[in-house]
Amino acid sequence: MTQQGILIVISGPSGTGKGTICRELLRSNPRLKYSISATTRLPRVGEVDGVNYLFTGKEQFKTMIDNGELLEWAEVYGNFYGTPRRYVLDQLHSGFDVVLEIDTQGAMKVKDNFSQGVYVYVVPPSLDELADRIYKRGTDSPEVIKNRLHCASSELKLAHNYHYIVVNDQVAAAVQRIETIITAEKYRAERNTDLIDSLYRSKCIGKP
Ligand code: 5GP
Repeated sequence: MTQQGILIVISGPSGTGKGTICRELLRSNPRLKYSISATTRLPRVGEVDGVNYLFTGKEQFKTMIDNGELLEWAEVYGNFYGTPRRYVLDQLHSGFDVVLEIDTQGAMKVKDNFSQGVYVYVVPPSLDELADRIYKRGTDSPEVIKNRLHCASSELKLAHNYHYIVVNDQVAAAVQRIETIITAEKYRAERNTDLIDSLYRSKCIGKP
């Protein structure tokens, strides 16, 4: 029997570097799958439909909600974002670990249904550093940036709802911390009850 994969939910204030961390995680862990979210946000320069997001219109997004196609969805900074249900469930069922990079509202909705998931909150070393990163990214208007920074400090209050807090001071170090978390989670007793059962039931063919 294939062991069910682990659902890893990663959140954190905008500009913390979650996207970069996820890309690096996926690059070095082929058994890790990334859930591509649907969004009504317009693509940024360089973003590709079906790679970064499934870019959808508002009507199409509403239809996905009505048809129960989304595991969770939320309105973030005036746009809708949601996690396609089928992909996530299929991958987990096939034994792959799945990463969701979603906001705190969505993460808490998922947590209500997937208590066995692993919830990781990524934080910047400081809020000054965060502001610096968002400005340098240069993808958003000053108004949007202001809003994102405002949300970042209030979002931090939700960090205690996660299982792990990871500081992104250096991408490689943050990735390594998350890999360590995933490895440890794989050895949790409650994820290995089948192993113990089969050991318990197996015949001892050693010394009498
Ligand atoms: P961005 O527009 O910068 O790509 O993403 C904005 C926020 O939306 C980020 O915090 C990101 O984690 C979140 N987000 C991306 N996809 C989803 C999703 O499927 N569901 C939810 N709830 N949030 C998402």
